[in-house]
Amino acid sequence: MEERNRPESKNFIEAFIEEDIAPGGQYEGQTVHTRFPPEPNGYLHIGHCKALCIDFGTAEKFGGMCNLRMDDTNPTKEDVEFVEAIQQDIKWLGFTWEDRFYYGSDYFEKDYEYAVELIKKGLAYVCELTPEEFKEFRGDVDTPAKSPWRDRPVEESLDLFARMRAGEFEDNQYTLRAKIDLASGNFNMRDPVIYRIRHMHHHRQGDKWCIYPMYDFAHPIQDALEGITHSLCSLEFENHRPLYNWVVENVSVPHKPRQIEFARLGIDHTVLSKRKLRNLVETGVVSGWDDPRMPTLCGLRRRGYTPKSIRNFCERVGVAKSPNTIPYAFLEFCLREDLNETAQRVMAVLKPIKLTITNYPEGQSETMVVENNPNRPVDGSRAVTFSRNLWIEAYDFLAQPVPKYKRLYPEGPECRLKGAYLIKCTGYVTDEEGNVTEVLATYDPESRGGDPADGRKVKGATIHWVDAATAVDAEVRQYDNLFLDADPDAAGKDYLACLNPNSLEVLTGCKVEAGLKTSDVPSYQFMRLGYFCKDSKDSSEDHLVFNRSVSLKDSFKPTV
Ligand code: ATP
Ligand code: MG
Repeated sequence: MEERNRPESKNFIEAFIEEDIAPGGQYEGQTVHTRFPPEPNGYLHIGHCKALCIDFGTAEKFGGMCNLRMDDTNPTKEDVEFVEAIQQDIKWLGFTWEDRFYYGSDYFEKDYEYAVELIKKGLAYVCELTPEEFKEFRGDVDTPAKSPWRDRPVEESLDLFARMRAGEFEDNQYTLRAKIDLASGNFNMRDPVIYRIRHMHHHRQGDKWCIYPMYDFAHPIQDALEGITHSLCSLEFENHRPLYNWVVENVSVPHKPRQIEFARLGIDHTVLSKRKLRNLVETGVVSGWDDPRMPTLCGLRRRGYTPKSIRNFCERVGVAKSPNTIPYAFLEFCLREDLNETAQRVMAVLKPIKLTITNYPEGQSETMVVENNPNRPVDGSRAVTFSRNLWIEAYDFLAQPVPKYKRLYPEGPECRLKGAYLIKCTGYVTDEEGNVTEVLATYDPESRGGDPADGRKVKGATIHWVDAATAVDAEVRQYDNLFLDADPDAAGKDYLACLNPNSLEVLTGCKVEAGLKTSDVPSYQFMRLGYFCKDSKDSSEDHLVFNRSVSLKDSFKPTV
């Protein structure tokens, strides 16, 4: 990551900005000012993180500022729940807008004034085409669009626009259109609608307005009024840039921001569209926006993702101009890398079978002191009890060994109980149906800590365990991709048909170290199993619930 500070590794946005603020550039000597403009109609997802890292991160790099602005221009869908969640998520990632929090709708009065200014300049007119006629007169690549109202006198447009605002007309009866170029090869420039009538309640403005500005008109004005120098947005706005520029050139705004576009982030095996994510929530496919399988920030947080892992991910994915789909495994790689440093090592048994150490005295118990994280001695150590009856993973024993099996089986190799003793399996107990109910072993009292006193080679595996006398029960939720299909987000694909029916596996009766009942570190490494965290919603001291954040094994070979 240090690489990024070297001049040659500057991304194209940074290179543009550097030019702009250099002597002779259009923002010579100015403070770089960006903004993040989410539409409060859903929760932020990992795609938004990329935009956040670019908007806030770029400002940070240039010692500038980034505003947070709710893009609530469209009156249909906003919700206070989303506004608050968006703020919480951005703070959690570690970005700050300080006191620069705005709503697009706060500029409605200004938008209106600028629209009037355009009419007065002969650069906008009230049009009466119905939505159907509008389509019909749109033209095509070879045919210009048409509007019989284009040359409506300024006075008449002014009057009609005022009456539109006053609520005299029905939805869609009139529109205000910018007078640009009906023959433009860019359809966004073919006299785009900049105001429409919508008799709708606005979540902040109430019923004050029944005309609403279009995003392409309102957005550049919002940017300009806030003194934004660089308006960074995703690539779908590239074709709208001429209109963005036209607006800031033709209304008397105090600043002229520059729009620069970057490619959206895509991740395989998931969808990154609020509409689709909302649908998963509303149809009950997932338990909510914060279901740990969701690519939302709140879902990732509940799953055990850290801000650092997500920011590292975005940083490494980089800022490209061409669309890119990143393997979900790379996101997991970034998490594993962070948790490897910070997670507390503990032992938990997910599919338990009883192990009895037959030569360990009944009723006896001892305490092993184990380091919490060998990578970070500052994390200290904790006590783990050991006694005659333990829980081990059922898969660490086989009555009939298979070739190369180095764990427990009768007359098998000596195995190490992590941090405790060396043991040898001597037999097992079955129930009437022949199922193994208990594994029997003897231990070497001279091997306390897990190493032989005589230095002999231990041929078997090291296995994890918990003391049956003190272990507590837990529920463990293991997650897999939400979608089996690698690209469920592809245009035209029925994403609901690509769901993975096994994306959630719930294990009950798991056994964990007693200390986990009350400990509250953010992340654990369950030895040999993966990284886990307590579920922030469902876990309690009486009913522990852990989410698997990511497995230990790394199937991903980083190429990014
Ligand atoms: P969605 O399709 O998920 O509804 P959106 O673009 O409508 O996304 P906004 O709330 O308008 O969502 O997005 C706020 C900002 O985040 C915009 O600048 C948008 O370009 C950016 N953004 C959204 N999705 C992505 C993505 N997948 N990758 C990068 N940036 C994104
Ligand atoms: Mg949007």
